[in-house]
Amino acid sequence: MTTLSHCQALDAQDPLAPLRAQFALPEGVIYLDGNSLGARPVASLARAQQVIAQEWGNGLIRSWNSAGWADLSLRLGNRLAPLIGAGEGEVAVTDTTSINLFKVLSAALSVQRERVPARKVIVSEASNFPTDLYIAEGLAELLQQGYTLRLVNSPDELPRAIDQDVAVVMLTHVNYKTGYMYDMHALTALSHECGALSLWDLAHSAGAVPIDLHAAGADYAIGCTYKYLNGGPGSQAFVWVSPALVDLVRQPLSGWFGHTRQFAMESNYAPSAGIARYLCGTQPITSLAMVECGLEIFEQTDMASLRAKSLALTDLFIERVEARCAVHGLKLITPREHARRGSHVSFEHPEGYAVIQALIARGVIGDYREPRIMRFGFTPLYTSFTDVWDAVEILGDILDNTTWDQPQFKVRNSVT
Ligand SMILES: *Cc1c(COP(=O)(O)O)cnc(C)c1O
Repeated sequence: MTTLSHCQALDAQDPLAPLRAQFALPEGVIYLDGNSLGARPVASLARAQQVIAQEWGNGLIRSWNSAGWADLSLRLGNRLAPLIGAGEGEVAVTDTTSINLFKVLSAALSVQRERVPARKVIVSEASNFPTDLYIAEGLAELLQQGYTLRLVNSPDELPRAIDQDVAVVMLTHVNYKTGYMYDMHALTALSHECGALSLWDLAHSAGAVPIDLHAAGADYAIGCTYKYLNGGPGSQAFVWVSPALVDLVRQPLSGWFGHTRQFAMESNYAPSAGIARYLCGTQPITSLAMVECGLEIFEQTDMASLRAKSLALTDLFIERVEARCAVHGLKLITPREHARRGSHVSFEHPEGYAVIQALIARGVIGDYREPRIMRFGFTPLYTSFTDVWDAVEILGDILDNTTWDQPQFKVRNSVT
């Protein structure tokens, strides 16, 4: 069985350990929620000051050119591209994940209307992140063409759900509750065999697990930068479209930033070639600029090293919880199989909400998802093996002493 000194030895040998110094983590906190909001890179503070004081304050409107604001979305896209197996000029960092999903799902349905108009089904899973399902619902209603959502209840129902009626298979690569990771290659191939397009939400994958969109043959992808990529609260999302499809149709949020001659100020829209047509309007530049600080840290390592540490951290956490908290009946809902596991681990407990609040009161920050799920994110850039040990000791202590059973831990906050 693992011991504290074994965890300390793992930290001493960990080649990624020095990167933790590039994050401003508060004293006394073990942060296991980087899957929801990444920690702040130290560099973000100076970068924000530079954007506000120099670029905005002194540069004023000139900064669209002189500080490179005008092409920031595409420059950041190029820096992010290697993390998802995309090429140069194929990714834009802009808008939100919800909005980018609207754009790519609309585009995918347009492509299919031209190819096989009879395809009216969008396949997804009932436990997908709610915004993904809501956006698909809203788009189907807007289009008024009889589109329906076909939701599966578990991954093994997918092969039967993907048939000749399906236009798009829209999946989140790593499930936000369970941490289950789909086989992107196999499901994309299956979708294509049936003539469907494949759309991947990488919100819980980008910066967490290796992704190769080109090798998988994917058609569309979107995802967050404020989770594992540490871009800051509400930082812009990314959007990728396969080069084979990107110029086929216009996406409906065709604002002036996507126009091929933006400053010609023409009365009619003419889309840019490539991913630039997925830009819409002016971005909050102070937020967008922060994304760069997160990506700079990823450029000092590689996804294979991060994945190896992520699996070691999640293995250790599962082993320790099952040993230290054995009598408390926690139920693991995250796959044990490495190939099916993302970078967070979830356990069910009937009083999961109160247990998480009691943990937060002790400085261990995880989060809670309905119905009974305690969720713990592991971010190899700044989570140590000793953090895992300490977090499980505190969890065990809270469960042994029923510390969670106090009224203040049962008050529901608006964000859980
Ligand atoms: C976090 C997350 C989102 C968030 O979308 P926003 O538009 O940024 O609020 C969307 N989809 C998935 C799968 C997520 O995990």
